[in-house]
Amino acid sequence: MSPAESSDLPVLPVLTPDVLVVGGGPAGLSAAAALAPRVPGRVLVLEREPEAGGMPRHSDHTGYGLRDLRRLLTGPAYARRLTAAARTAGADVRTRTTVTDWAEAPADGGGREIPYALHATGPDGRFRIEPRAIVLATGARERPRAARLVAGDRPAGVHTTGELQRAVHLHHRPVGGRAVVVGAEPVSWSAALTLRRAGCRVALMVSRHARTEAPAALAVGATALLGTPVAHRARVVRVIGRRRVEAVEIEHLDTGARRTVPCDTVVFTGDWIPDHELARAAGIELDPGTLGPLVDTALRTSRPGIFAAGNLLHPADTADVAALDGRHVADRVAARLADPRPAEPAGGARLIAAPPFRWVAPGLLRPGDPAPPRGRLLLWSDEFRTAARLVVRHDGRIVAEHRLPRAVRPGRVLSVPWSVVPQSAIRTADPARGPVTIGLG
Ligand SMILES: Cc1cc2nc3c(=O)[nH]c(=O)nc-3n(C[C@H](O)[C@H](O)[C@H](O)COP(=O)(O)OP(=O)(O)OC[C@H]3O[C@@H](n4cnc5c(N)ncnc54)[C@H](O)[C@@H]3O)c2cc1C
Repeated sequence: MSPAESSDLPVLPVLTPDVLVVGGGPAGLSAAAALAPRVPGRVLVLEREPEAGGMPRHSDHTGYGLRDLRRLLTGPAYARRLTAAARTAGADVRTRTTVTDWAEAPADGGGREIPYALHATGPDGRFRIEPRAIVLATGARERPRAARLVAGDRPAGVHTTGELQRAVHLHHRPVGGRAVVVGAEPVSWSAALTLRRAGCRVALMVSRHARTEAPAALAVGATALLGTPVAHRARVVRVIGRRRVEAVEIEHLDTGARRTVPCDTVVFTGDWIPDHELARAAGIELDPGTLGPLVDTALRTSRPGIFAAGNLLHPADTADVAALDGRHVADRVAARLADPRPAEPAGGARLIAAPPFRWVAPGLLRPGDPAPPRGRLLLWSDEFRTAARLVVRHDGRIVAEHRLPRAVRPGRVLSVPWSVVPQSAIRTADPARGPVTIGLG
């Protein structure tokens, strides 16, 4: 029994918004801004950080807002703008408030459409929320050093990009003088720029791949600006240092040769994992590829009335893509709330990524569902491929092929038109006939 239902514990205050949005990043704020004018009750956004805005708050460089706001902003300016838009639209955005767990729902569903309840803790203590619909927009994070199973000492000076940028941009803390950056994706170069601004030289970037994952223009420009060498086909195998990092040991993946690189700071970048704890705790089916909730093209999860959006679904794409997910999901949430007895969708077939793709999102096809956000499917590749041909298979045969206009590369989401999956495959999508797969020819 949860504390709210226990007779010997204090009764918690209860909020009954129409919609609860968990996470005040670009996806959650954009969903709230689109929903607030359209639903009769309150749209409540809960954000655990002191300010809303999500990851862009920490990212003090330009590159935000192109697709959703049609302008280029710095991360913090973009975060402020989305927060203001959600509040102006009428959403109740509360910060320093974490949704901690699912509570036992009222036995009769409280007379409302969905029998969910959650607990949150904020500046005024713990409270209970009984919403009519829920949007999970909790984002993604980079896997820390421990999760990457890197051996060695446990000294200070080891960060992810998110931790580094939070320390530098939000708390103005010093970092070291000589760093190794693990990864060479766009986010890795963002980490390198942050280090440079903080007065820390990047001695080396380390990439598992034979060439830099970031697009050539970005990598060439950043290399010229930062003068940073990249060790390709290599990985960090050991961190050395008693109190503070003193060096890392790196290994060449093909020869096994090892060398020691002196440094006082290590930044582990990329290698994203969705912040999926709440989804898992609700028993929502997860996509084995993304490790986020499995959703259909309307961004419905496997639990009725619970939707998901943003990097929780596709770790990790750009902020404007997450924001446009938020706008897309708002249509479905509003439609659900307008219908007193919404019919629950049934059936559908899995859309599954075939190697070299690790995942495709959304991962569930249902006849009659809308096109996915922006009319695009998102894919993540573990390998480089040039002159690639996308191949869609269903029921043991090729049902569509599509020549990709640019190279497939790891470390960056590949976005392809939804129309690559033929309507005939969606119409006949039936779990009994197996999944629809999408790979390369
Ligand atoms: C270093 C770096 C550089 C980047 N550069 C760019 C760029 O130049 N351009 C660009 O477009 N994108 C960039 N991105 C990507 C961009 O930041 C993300 O795509 C975007 O933030 C995703 O939005 P989101 O809303 O899905 O998730 P997030 O921004 O991660 O927001 C999720 C929010 O949910 C909150 N939350 C999680 N769990 C709970 C809970 N239980 N209770 C309450 N709150 C919770 C979190 O605190 C967070 O604020 C960059 C990312 C990084 C890390």
